[in-house]
Amino acid sequence: MLQITPIPAFNDNYIWLLRQPGATAAAVVDPGDATPVIRRLRSAGLRLEAILITHKHGDHVGGIRELKRTWPEAVVYGPAGEPIPAVEQALTEGDRVMLEGVGAELQVLDVPGHTEGHIAYLHQDSLFCGDTLFAAGCGRVFSGTHEQLHHSLARIAALPPETQLYCAHEYTLDNLGFAAWVEPDNPVLEQRRRDTETLREKGVPSVPSRLDLELQTNPFLRSSEPAVIAAAERYTGSRLKSPSAVFTAIRTWKDREYD
Ligand code: ZN
Ligand code: FE
Repeated sequence: MLQITPIPAFNDNYIWLLRQPGATAAAVVDPGDATPVIRRLRSAGLRLEAILITHKHGDHVGGIRELKRTWPEAVVYGPAGEPIPAVEQALTEGDRVMLEGVGAELQVLDVPGHTEGHIAYLHQDSLFCGDTLFAAGCGRVFSGTHEQLHHSLARIAALPPETQLYCAHEYTLDNLGFAAWVEPDNPVLEQRRRDTETLREKGVPSVPSRLDLELQTNPFLRSSEPAVIAAAERYTGSRLKSPSAVFTAIRTWKDREYD
């Protein structure tokens, strides 16, 4: 059974550590900083077999060089559609990554929108989704398009409801604040805010999050819900004719008024 644990980095990043109990091989997802990774692997007696990159941003790729200096045999996997010089194995939709030492096979999904070539890695019911989806939120649109991000989130939403979403940042409480702007009368949202506050007061990560909870509380997965459509139309002051238009409106609303 694959063991997945967070290595906190910077203010609010999580670098996900993948390992098999009893084995010495490890892989990390999106090591923006090498220092906490080296410290964690050394203290656990692990060696790095692979580095998995979801997208090109510095807080996800910044630690690659130093990790390669420490473990030259570690293979760097990343998206084919983005310029990341350190990537050795360029991946795209449908590719598979076999991690022999870690004992895991991951499947690659194209999830553009936050960036133009963002990918995610699926292992059984665990999805490493980088900055595409956050607990109760989603990434901003930087170098992709709103239509791409909406489509990518819809693909994630169609995975089995028990899927665990390993996103790259601890943004949950903040995101729940905006979600309550969109759906002030959603009772699941209010319960989730209380549960998340309790976790965060104890310093416990609020991720991974389960897809079924996201489907009930994440406004960016709910652009077909009447309450979300109504809120988006109040914000834009116009009729929105598609889920994609609703999504774009609430993403824009959060960018302009909340963040
Ligand atoms: Zn990013
Ligand atoms: Fe990020």
